[in-house]
Amino acid sequence: MIVAAGLATRQRLLVIGNGMAGVACVEQILKHRPRFAITIFGDEHYPNYNRILLSSIVAGERTPEDLTLNGVDWYRRHGIELRLGTRVVDVDAAAKTITAADGAVHPFDALLFATGSSPAVPPISGLQREGAFVFRTLEDAQALRAHAHAGVQAVVIGGGLLGLEAARALQSTGCQVTVVHLPEHLMERCVDAAGAAYLQTRLWQLGIRVLLGRRTTAIVGEGRVRAVAFADGDPIPADLVVIAAGIRPNVTLAQGAGVAVNRGILVNDYLETSHPDIFAVGECVEHRGVCYGLLAPLLEQGKVLAATITGNKGPVYTGTTIATSLKVTGVDVCSAGQWTDDPDS
Ligand SMILES: Cc1cc2nc3c(=O)[nH]c(=O)nc-3n(C[C@H](O)[C@H](O)[C@H](O)COP(=O)(O)OP(=O)(O)OC[C@H]3O[C@@H](n4cnc5c(N)ncnc54)[C@H](O)[C@@H]3O)c2cc1C
Repeated sequence: MIVAAGLATRQRLLVIGNGMAGVACVEQILKHRPRFAITIFGDEHYPNYNRILLSSIVAGERTPEDLTLNGVDWYRRHGIELRLGTRVVDVDAAAKTITAADGAVHPFDALLFATGSSPAVPPISGLQREGAFVFRTLEDAQALRAHAHAGVQAVVIGGGLLGLEAARALQSTGCQVTVVHLPEHLMERCVDAAGAAYLQTRLWQLGIRVLLGRRTTAIVGEGRVRAVAFADGDPIPADLVVIAAGIRPNVTLAQGAGVAVNRGILVNDYLETSHPDIFAVGECVEHRGVCYGLLAPLLEQGKVLAATITGNKGPVYTGTTIATSLKVTGVDVCSAGQWTDDPDS
């Protein structure tokens, strides 16, 4: 159990994940004036940045520096040790140590999983071909930016929020863009059929082609991407493919440590896991059966966890009613509340 305040020696808090949820939670922890020595491990090479704005990198509207939320100075000012480009490869919950990819072993008194999500990649052959990308990190966005220019035929697999944002950003660079979606309507978890039809019309007007009800089976080409093939229907030509087919919480590390995991790392209303000194926040967690993929819930979780972990346990997190809006210039789509396909509910 962690009791941070009032201890003569500082306890070691290790944070795995330098993303928006982990760092926002650390910001909240600092407000409690904790007696923690904090180390944050991040396998990306950038200090905390605004992931939400990645499509503006693809579109060439912002630079990576513009997206920085907490520069290295911030970590320094708060006495936080930041280990960038350092992947944590093992957690020993019994010994209370973690092992980094460089082999270094670090002891902890409290451990925070903020490992986020990874892109969910459907079973499609040929994903290793040059010109096939996922869209999650600053490096992904920069790679897309480098390959996107006028005349390129871009295919985005996935017609959810992320896919449509990627599509619009690519189109703004001059690419000819097709969105391929497996369900029969776009953004099916956020808008109803009428809303989706409106959205599709607006995208057509912007010059973005939409193919619905298509199961992508292969990315075709010799070394490089040349086409995208489907379970039925003709293949379409492609120079660049973006997979934007959902996310999967990063739970392998927690699972290996014996922490209870379902789809996400299981947490209670205090953001405690099944291990008394291990906590979790952000897209990697599952709370009351829900894994969130948006920022607002993660910020709420961070406040509660900061109280819990600093010995001020009391506030509870009971879940978030989510609201989303599509950040695509020229198309206004907002969605709020619980999604259901039951017309009577
Ligand atoms: C393009 C895009 C647009 C988005 N737009 C919106 C939006 O408009 N509105 C909204 O609310 N949300 C949006 N989101 C979602 C939002 O960005 C996420 O919900 C949020 O960033 C998740 O934060 P996180 O810290 O939980 O996870 P992440 O951001 O995934 O951060 C986790 C970090 O931990 C690192 N990590 C994982 N495992 C390890 C390990 N073993 N060792 C070291 N480091 C590790 C990861 O590399 C990553 O850097 C968008 C996401 C994307 C990709």
